[in-house]
Amino acid sequence: MDFTNMNVLVVGVGISGNAVAKVAKKMGAEVTLSDSKAEADIKYDLQELRDIGIKLAFGKQDNSLLDGVDMVILSPAVPVRVPLVQEAYKRNIKVTTEVEVAYKLAKSPILAVTGTNGKTTTVTLLGQLMRTRYPNAGVGGNIGIPLCEEVLKAGEDSCTVAEISSYQMEASSEFNPHVAVVLNVTPDHVVRHGSLEVYQQMKEKMFANQSPEDYLVLNYDDPKTRGMAERAKGQVFFFSRQEILKEGAFLAEGWLTISWQGQVCRLCRADELKIKGGHNIENALAAAAAAFLGGVRIPKIGEVLKAFEPVEHRIEPVATVNGVPYYNDSKATNTDSAIKALESFDSHLILIAGGDDKHTDLTEFMTLVKAKVDELILVGDATERFKEAALANGYEAEHIHEAGYSMEKAVEIAHNISGIPQTVLLSPACASFDMYTGFEERGRDFKRLVKDLLK
Ligand code: ADP
Repeated sequence: MDFTNMNVLVVGVGISGNAVAKVAKKMGAEVTLSDSKAEADIKYDLQELRDIGIKLAFGKQDNSLLDGVDMVILSPAVPVRVPLVQEAYKRNIKVTTEVEVAYKLAKSPILAVTGTNGKTTTVTLLGQLMRTRYPNAGVGGNIGIPLCEEVLKAGEDSCTVAEISSYQMEASSEFNPHVAVVLNVTPDHVVRHGSLEVYQQMKEKMFANQSPEDYLVLNYDDPKTRGMAERAKGQVFFFSRQEILKEGAFLAEGWLTISWQGQVCRLCRADELKIKGGHNIENALAAAAAAFLGGVRIPKIGEVLKAFEPVEHRIEPVATVNGVPYYNDSKATNTDSAIKALESFDSHLILIAGGDDKHTDLTEFMTLVKAKVDELILVGDATERFKEAALANGYEAEHIHEAGYSMEKAVEIAHNISGIPQTVLLSPACASFDMYTGFEERGRDFKRLVKDLLK
């Protein structure tokens, strides 16, 4: 890809927008970075962009921004339906995305992972697997590290692992990973894409440009992703937690196993993984499959799988206090995720839940709470509704504790009432904005308070 003397408009200030603006500028383009927000509302440091000569345009996005422009690059947050982008299409200006630019700049293959859930865990694990073969392998995309910078760092004789969201695919048309992984498709982000069908199409775009020498790794257990095999252009490689496959990656007699072209190889036992829960076995199988297709040898895959630690805020072990382990699952911002966490433990849980209530149905969640949770500690806005739902599902009032808007109080209660063989789990099933700036801040606060118990 050659940016020399190009006139580029990047739409949307943000991690990827700013990065691609810088890359294009350094490669010789004239770059304008535009955002519909006022400059005062932008939380990024813009000085570096100004220093290297990128023009900045804030507020109302007039069509004149497109005058003389050769290429429009969209940040993932910018939907194609915004009038400025529609006008660009009308004027036949090339519209692309940061991930597509990254793909074109890459000098080595891309292994891309998409899906509704599990992307970050799978991408982080796959990154570690690929680095055993290519120490400079990049890891970026939706995970919060700009892909266009990662592919440049990775260079030749290497590879880059990319986390891809449906948003990043919307305006992409040429992106083409050598190995594509689709983990699962459940209703999410339907508001932006209009329907589940369109959302699925966005995921399918990720492998639409593949050819027979490429690979498509699909979840055999999810009917939506299994069905994608019919539209595959590359070789399909399934993974399954539930069935033993003739070819693919699967669980057999408790072992994560790969079977391919007549060879059957065991990687490691499921109970050797440090990441907990059935959903994480799926993530591990998917990452192992992609790494295998990316050339990592079987014994190495087993080694890395066994050593891999949970990603921060995803059923992350924090500490053991008086024989009671504490886990931080602050990323569980909805009931589906909290259900996954509860399913990952046997029983005897002390659960800290609540926060900024998403007002979804709580029946399934509370049924699991009743089965597995000894004591339920509630925080934040959701306290009342969660309490009512717990009681309605037959959970006893004497095991419900209220900590108001204080995580400190919640941890103190957990500490006072817990004992062996119980486990304390923060898995809120709620967003965090009633008490924090995001799930990361909530998780770190929880971890700090738990570690203080050890002092
Ligand atoms: P993403 O980056 O796609 O949000 P994460 O790895 O951060 O994925 O996981 C987010 C949440 O999704 C986890 O807390 C867990 O509850 C749930 N999850 C993770 N992996 C899977 C999976 N394979 N299938 C279903 N749910 C999953």
